[in-house]
Amino acid sequence: MSEALLSVRGLRSGYGAVEVLRGIDVDVAPGEIVALLGSNGAGKTTFNQTVSALLAARGGSIRFAGHDITRAHYRDVVAQGLIHVPEGRRIFPNLSVLENLELGSFARARAHRASNLQRVFEIFPRLKERTAQVAGTMSGGEQQMLAIGRGLMGEPRLLILDEPSLGLSPLLVEELFGLVARLHAQGLAILLVEQNVAQTLEIAQRAYVLENGAIQFSGSSAELLATDRLRQAYLGA
Ligand code: ATP
Repeated sequence: MSEALLSVRGLRSGYGAVEVLRGIDVDVAPGEIVALLGSNGAGKTTFNQTVSALLAARGGSIRFAGHDITRAHYRDVVAQGLIHVPEGRRIFPNLSVLENLELGSFARARAHRASNLQRVFEIFPRLKERTAQVAGTMSGGEQQMLAIGRGLMGEPRLLILDEPSLGLSPLLVEELFGLVARLHAQGLAILLVEQNVAQTLEIAQRAYVLENGAIQFSGSSAELLATDRLRQAYLGA
């Protein structure tokens, strides 16, 4: 693996008295798609939130693009290009589609707002048709497009996608995986948390399996698929 874009060592995190992440190591290289798998409650969302500074790390270190961001402010993490599209979309429901997109360039790439908007509209023509629509009235799939579009407005170097296919129809899930593959082909590094494990392993080079706040497996997608216990646990076959 080339030098890591994201390098996480011994990360510990949790809520109140609850310790969730119990010292975990994760790397993402430039341009890589890395899958983060694990059962419900394993700590995947907690990991994403801690890495993107929405939740404070309790121990360990997080380096991104050569900088120590372990104690950085959320806005500075975004400004470095580590952009997190959270689970459940989290768009601003009372703002328009355009206003939501513009907020994506608040902390980074503000000078490129117009050209990035055009790029997002090329990827998601539906958003261009709906710029004035109140975001909360968009369909679930459209809101997911908007959440990803808003992430792309900040010119991510690493895009963290937390369960982007949740609640989408099978056709939209196909489209979403096609989009992730295209973004990767354009050189974007992606950390992908997904329940659609088979499709995820098809596009991810490497995977981590998180259980009970600890890494149970890390290796190539092919290695994971060749490990009977993991294949049975995560693909049921
Ligand atoms: P899922 O696949 O169900 O989304 P996950 O792997 O993303 O699960 P997390 O959401 O990171 O799991 O949750 C890890 C653990 O932390 C769970 O036991 C959960 O109940 C707990 N947890 C999450 N958020 C909070 C919170 N705000 N306060 C207390 N405990 C929390």
